[in-house]
Amino acid sequence: MARSLLSGNEAVARGAWEAGALVGVGYPGTPSTEVLEAFACMPGVYAEWAPNEKVALEVAAGSSLGGVRTLVTMKHVGLNVAADPLLTLSHTGVGAGLVLLVADDPGMHSSQNEQDSRNYAAFAKVPLLEPSDSAEALAHVRLAFDLSERFDLPVILRSTTRVAHSKGLVGTEDREERERVPYEKRPEKWVMMPGNARVRRLELDERIGRVREWAEGSGVHTEVPGGGPVGVVTSGVCYHHVREALPGAPVLKLSLTWPLPLAVVRDFAERVRRVAVVEEADDFLARGLRAAGIDVADVPLPAAGELTPRKVAAAFGATVVPARAALDDLPPRPPLMCPGCPHRGVFHALRRMRAVVTGDIGCYTLGALPPLAAMDTCVCMGASIGMAHGLSLAGEASRPVVAVIGDSTFAHSGVTGLMDLSYNRGNATVVVLDNRVTAMTGQQDNPLTGRTLMGESTVEVDVPALARALGIADVTRVDPFDLPATESALRAAVESPGPSVIVVKGECALLAREHAEPFGVDEELCTACAVCIRLGCPAISKESSGKAAIDAELCVGCAQCVQVCKYEAIVATGPACDVGELR
Ligand code: SF4
Ligand code: SF4
Repeated sequence: MARSLLSGNEAVARGAWEAGALVGVGYPGTPSTEVLEAFACMPGVYAEWAPNEKVALEVAAGSSLGGVRTLVTMKHVGLNVAADPLLTLSHTGVGAGLVLLVADDPGMHSSQNEQDSRNYAAFAKVPLLEPSDSAEALAHVRLAFDLSERFDLPVILRSTTRVAHSKGLVGTEDREERERVPYEKRPEKWVMMPGNARVRRLELDERIGRVREWAEGSGVHTEVPGGGPVGVVTSGVCYHHVREALPGAPVLKLSLTWPLPLAVVRDFAERVRRVAVVEEADDFLARGLRAAGIDVADVPLPAAGELTPRKVAAAFGATVVPARAALDDLPPRPPLMCPGCPHRGVFHALRRMRAVVTGDIGCYTLGALPPLAAMDTCVCMGASIGMAHGLSLAGEASRPVVAVIGDSTFAHSGVTGLMDLSYNRGNATVVVLDNRVTAMTGQQDNPLTGRTLMGESTVEVDVPALARALGIADVTRVDPFDLPATESALRAAVESPGPSVIVVKGECALLAREHAEPFGVDEELCTACAVCIRLGCPAISKESSGKAAIDAELCVGCAQCVQVCKYEAIVATGPACDVGELR
């Protein structure tokens, strides 16, 4: 066995490859994204980004039906999108092994909510495994494929941010090459019309019962002996927090947390003075154990956010692990759009128009923050268009209503919202912020970019043609780096009756390989009016004199600030220019 230093996400990809998975499909979302990117680099596999998680799971169901082991990846909120097929796939079961990697984000480092995906396992009636580190991530994904085939069920592998992104030593093995299982027509298993579904529903209980039996006798869980007043039941990364915070305590780490292996916990409970549960995000284990009549101690763990060894120690009255004191006196650094971001000009124009802006999920959500402060809502993927339509239905007439949505999000779930807006003759303007990449999750491709995850050129969705095909007559394109043109297109769109679409196409500043020469501020001409400061470009700062200054190291020469300075104080730089001192 070789040993490699892998992140949890890399270990999941490696484990799926070792298990003989041939197909990987998912939608990018932190903290899950790197799993599919790593899987795509493995020899002999095929991987693709789907426009959303529901489609990803449906593709996976098809390839599982077609007889090849398949990995599906998503973040926790993506499981909401994939819930529809998941809740029926537990009834149909699988062909070859089907494993869903779902990465939760306790503490919401980059998410809009803090949901606990373990609840979906109980809801959908599918087994769920929780690795606590990279080594277990690899081992558990291999186990998940075996369980999926053995019990004819999709299996969820639930990781969290700390497991996904921490690195650890992992033992790796060769790939288990597997023959494709030939497709066999079995409508009683795969056609979930009520007559078949009722039968499969009863079979589902039987399959889950067998999983529970297996989980109780398999020895897959880990028990650490110890002494003290409580024995701790835990799972996932919390296991490591418990071992660090309560080094002498007896610990039962559950690997399969749904269906709950109650006999294993009861056996542990009989051998310790009192049982306590340590888990983050939700009281999923504690609720299940209490419902089964196991006496679980109340421990004052925080109900929200990530746990740490310090928080666990504090809750149990143990010695708190020393930690470096937080630094104070640091200047506040709110997140800002990058220098040269193509979204900046759109938000600048929307703020000037006093538009009500329904927003969406992506880096452009930063348009809600000062100094742009031009976005009013952000709920979930694709919500911007439906909310704009609803807002106009509610009679909002004093201010223009504009939805903004990124290219990947538009493909994910904006298209149906736009269809609804058109079908119902709504009166909102939709701005598709096409920066040619799924930027927030780290530069992935999507159906609008013209490239696949395997690096091949492909068709590129023509958004104006699509909008027209959906029945929107008023469709325009605009260059977001041309601020006057952007503003006049927006004003014309909101003034025209009925639905309208503006496609704003400008490359993400991080994607652009070449940048123009930086600009500088002519101190003589600058009046300290601060208009350029309100663009929120990180390259522009205010001197103690009140005048603007541009950091030539950060400036990418997008010229958006040049267009807002009516005193012509922002000027090109270069050896021939005498523009005052550049910082
Ligand atoms: S907009 Fe022009 S005049 Fe106003 S602060 Fe910026 S550089 Fe100076
Ligand atoms: S040209 Fe202006 S807005 Fe563009 S990156 Fe440079 S300082 Fe920022």
